[in-house]
Amino acid sequence: MKIGVLALQGAFIEHEIMLSKLGVTVCEIRRLSQFTDDIDGLVLPGGESTVQGKLLHEVGLFEPIKTAIEKGMPVFGTCAGMILLAKKICGDETVHLGVLNATVKRNAYGRQLSSFVTEGDFKGVGKVTMTFIRAPYFESVDDGAEVLSTIGGNIVAVRQNNILATSFHPECTDDLRVHEYFINMVKGCKRG
Ligand code: GLN
Repeated sequence: MKIGVLALQGAFIEHEIMLSKLGVTVCEIRRLSQFTDDIDGLVLPGGESTVQGKLLHEVGLFEPIKTAIEKGMPVFGTCAGMILLAKKICGDETVHLGVLNATVKRNAYGRQLSSFVTEGDFKGVGKVTMTFIRAPYFESVDDGAEVLSTIGGNIVAVRQNNILATSFHPECTDDLRVHEYFINMVKGCKRG
């Protein structure tokens, strides 16, 4: 299995380490030529969604990635990656890939509680340590998007068919189970 990690900006190396520990082949995606047909799934890392969105257009990866997700390529977005996936951003006209039926609120925890670590239940995985860094959460989800985790009433993990998104950073812990959940998604997803 070969998993691409978008490596334009942000915390991509941490994902690469997790995926390598799970025994999959990892390739960094920075250019269109690296986004090849043999990639079984893609990780969109945390970082700065506005910058990442802009860079995706600049390097010509925006449309190919959007199309591949719409055709069923499994994708896992963390934090900024989740913002890129959402159909709507609260109070903002910007839509990036717009493939996930959910409304996301950026920097949702404000300045006082901008970064924190907690524990929460993740459906299908169990209790996991969750690291939030200037994190978004989902205000709401629509058709086909299943809530996998909430913290204090806020939605922090969602799955919609081939799309997985988390507000928190599982790559900032030693716990491989959320990445393993994604790998199992990739194994189960049929591309069409
Ligand atoms: N606040 C960032 C954004 O809006 C996301 C933060 C993160 O990825 N850790 O893009």
